[in-house]
Amino acid sequence: MILPSKGINKNEISKRLDEFKSDDLDWRSGRVFGYVFDPGTEAMEVGKEAYMKFLTENALDFTSFPSLYKFEKEIVEMAVNHLNGGDEAVGNFTSGGTESIILAVKAAREHARVHKPEITEPEMILPITAHAAFHKAARYLNVKVVPIPVDDSFRADVAATKNAITPNSILIVGSAPSYAHGVVDPIAEMAAVALENGLLFHTDGCVGAFMLPFFKKLGEPVPDFDFSVPGVTSISMDLHKYAYTPKGASVVLYRNSDIRKHQIFACSHWTGYTIINNAIMSSRTGGPMAAAYAVLNFLGEDGYMNIARKKIEATQKLLAGVKKHKDLRIMSEPDFCMFSFTSETISVFHLIDEMNSIGWYIQPALSYENSRHNIHLSINFSNVDLVDAFLKDLYKSIDKIRDVKYGELGEALKQEFGDKDPDSISDLEIQQLLAMGGIGGEGFPEAMADINEMLNALPAKLREKLLVEYTNSIF
Ligand SMILES: *Cc1c(COP(=O)(O)O)cnc(C)c1O
Repeated sequence: MILPSKGINKNEISKRLDEFKSDDLDWRSGRVFGYVFDPGTEAMEVGKEAYMKFLTENALDFTSFPSLYKFEKEIVEMAVNHLNGGDEAVGNFTSGGTESIILAVKAAREHARVHKPEITEPEMILPITAHAAFHKAARYLNVKVVPIPVDDSFRADVAATKNAITPNSILIVGSAPSYAHGVVDPIAEMAAVALENGLLFHTDGCVGAFMLPFFKKLGEPVPDFDFSVPGVTSISMDLHKYAYTPKGASVVLYRNSDIRKHQIFACSHWTGYTIINNAIMSSRTGGPMAAAYAVLNFLGEDGYMNIARKKIEATQKLLAGVKKHKDLRIMSEPDFCMFSFTSETISVFHLIDEMNSIGWYIQPALSYENSRHNIHLSINFSNVDLVDAFLKDLYKSIDKIRDVKYGELGEALKQEFGDKDPDSISDLEIQQLLAMGGIGGEGFPEAMADINEMLNALPAKLREKLLVEYTNSIF
């Protein structure tokens, strides 16, 4: 492919874009559990219009675009009030959960550099259920992850949290809820441990912090997780998930500006314009901020309460339907509109492929520590009317794949690679592994069951190596 020597006309381009889109997940069907958060046509339009109005404005410099400053300030104020931040809490708008998390870890690291200069190898205490974004932050920022186990309900172990503290600890993390199982960690107990030991504590509310307060108002038993909990010093909360704003929208909040200060980046060590960045990115569109502002105001408290009510109902119905089936079991009773389930009698990976082939999208999760491989469901507003149809198809699909043979590939791989040091595995072996899973060649594989079975059988470090090699080969 090369740049066309002559520009192509607008209609032709538009046609081409539509063609490209035709293979994408059809989220409008309501049969997709994940990825796209659809608040309904009208709210979606409000978000799009606001986004396009500010597409070209640049959040690089809030003094040149006071409109963007106003959006950020008002969105953060709403977020602070939503999470009981009082008069002291502050925060910033970011492009997503990952950016919010990287910034919170960065702030914790810089805070420690100032207040605990003796620490040269900072550590972050992280439940094994914490989102991968913390590992990304750790690798980018050179902070060591100290993993802690979770109990049978997949909530972080408080005693292990305490025991994991060393003179190098700077930050403890808990999730409200964790993505995989939709359960809230014992935030109050964990934050108390942080407070007693002079450590910062981050609540990852990326997926849940916005909706949980509405669940609570509707009478659900939601554990405390926000700034009302002593010891919680920062919170990440995505807007582009369950606040239903267009993507590129999250906030990172701090108990006070003394901590947040360490997030901000300024640079005069170069010959160009003066740089001050709240977030990681520098030049960026004002679209997501404007759209978030618009959708939050358009839906308002009553709009979100309505969404929350329907999602709670749908989640309960789905849970009951899954529990009722003799081949399935839920992994843990969830605190949120997301949960995971597994099976000891059928292949969940084949079940996913089968559901996929009839137009549903549900997500696989590999086994890790005490979490068996499973199917994850994030229940969305767009799914609520399709719960009965989903369960019917799920039951039918189970019958269809019940006799499928599986497990041999996994067993063979476990024998061969289970105890091998991933660093000692050659590039050739990696290529062979990829071929065994049917990956490589043209296009993306249709059936994922073999690939998932293969990955599931391998140690986490080797999985990562394979994924990197594969991705490195396709772009
Ligand atoms: C989605 C999610 C993140 C990461 O957010 P992105 O917006 O995808 O970068 C972090 N934590 C939790 C619990 C999440 O569900």
